[in-house]
Amino acid sequence: MSEVYLIISIFVATFLVLGIVVILRVRKRNEQVKSEKPGYNADFKNDWYDGVSKQINGLKTALIAKDYKKFRLNLLLCLAQRVAGSSSECGQCMLFQQDITALVRDMGNLIQVDDRKERKAYFKSINKILGHLQKSHKLVTEGYYVGICMALGSGIGVALGSVMDSIGSGVPIGVGIGVAIGAALDAKAKRDGRVICTRETTASGSVPGAGHLLR
Ligand SMILES: [Zn+2]
Repeated sequence: MSEVYLIISIFVATFLVLGIVVILRVRKRNEQVKSEKPGYNADFKNDWYDGVSKQINGLKTALIAKDYKKFRLNLLLCLAQRVAGSSSECGQCMLFQQDITALVRDMGNLIQVDDRKERKAYFKSINKILGHLQKSHKLVTEGYYVGICMALGSGIGVALGSVMDSIGSGVPIGVGIGVAIGAALDAKAKRDGRVICTRETTASGSVPGAGHLLR
């Protein structure tokens, strides 16, 4: 039994070292590329987007912070930017522009009148746009890969733990490896400009790709 344990430990240690090496390399490349490449559509603007972002920013000053967060207006702004960036080559994104225009126009009503059905429809529309961007344009939300890899890792950890006769020590190892791999993939997605709403855009409402929070 102890032999098996030793082999698994070596195996796991190798994976951990590999994971750390991958993260360090991705980070290094990230630093190098950051200054040269603004990222896919990160700074995209058109007249439609300018109008929508002005309206949403206007709502930001008018609404209490709780409502702004509750109705996911930061996300809506990010979605609007992505949709605008793809609207010239994607018919669906072009249609979503009209949807977003209507959503923003009716926002005041939606917040004032407590209509559950309308609110449900609003969030459904947002999720539909988000789903399209994820599926058809291969975009991800921030921390997407960490979430997936952590879940996968904990599953593997349980299996590992049962081989080692101690599930309690298998799970943290699996989760640790999962987080390491997920963080590397998230960093890569960010470098490729595939993250829909980065923390920087969420925090300030502008300046995509500032990157200071990543370090
Ligand atoms: Zn599209």
